[in-house]
This record gives sequence, structure tokens and C-alpha cells, in this order.
Amino acid sequence: MSDGTVQRGRGTVFVRKEICKGCSYCIDFCPTKCLGFSKDFNAKGYHYPDLARPADCSGCDMCGLYCPDFAIYGMRYRDLEKATAGAGTAADGAAKQA
Ligand code: SF4
Ligand code: SF4
Repeated sequence: MSDGTVQRGRGTVFVRKEICKGCSYCIDFCPTKCLGFSKDFNAKGYHYPDLARPADCSGCDMCGLYCPDFAIYGMRYRDLEKATAGAGTAADGAAKQA
């Protein structure tokens, strides 16, 4: 029985829903089939992709490679954590120089 917690996969996606045109390439080409269409519409009237099965996302960014409008990209958590840590270091450096 589920306790309501969402299991985290190895990666996740970021969706710029307002520039999505609902073509479904990202959903069709996702190797783990973890994306689905949202129930909601964007301002242009399109359904945009949603991470329907987060535990299955590897962060491979295949969805991003196929999106003709750069409306989605995937990232592995380990790279995201490295980038976040790097941004913190850069910001610290900038603050020290100010
Ligand atoms: S990052 Fe990879 S696994 Fe995750 S939704 Fe995109 S194509 Fe699918
Ligand atoms: S491939 Fe890009 S434009 Fe097409 S549905 Fe996915 S996010 Fe939207």
C-alpha cells in the first residue's frame, strides 16, 4: 500500500510550459516512458508534459534533445547538485570580490 510519498528517480525534468506547443515528441521519445501530458493547458491552449512517474526518470535529457522548442530538459540529480554547489561557490567568490 502506498504511503503517499513520491519516490525519486535518478533525475528530473524542467518544463517551460508557456513555450510548449504540445507536439508530444518528448513523451514519445522518452526511453523510460515516464512523461505524460498535464491535465492543465498553457496560455496557448496546449497540454504540456508532466513527470507522471518521477521514479522512472533518469535525467538523460532525451526529451530535451527532441523538443523543437527547448521547452523541456532533463538533468541527473548528481549533476544538478554539482551545479548548485558550483553556483554557491561562484556566488561566494563574487561576494568576496565586491
Ligand atoms: S530526462 Fe530522460 S527519462 Fe527523464 S523524462 Fe526526459 S527523456 Fe525521460
Ligand atoms: S517536445 Fe517540447 S513542445 Fe513538444 S510537447 Fe514536449 S515540451 Fe512541448
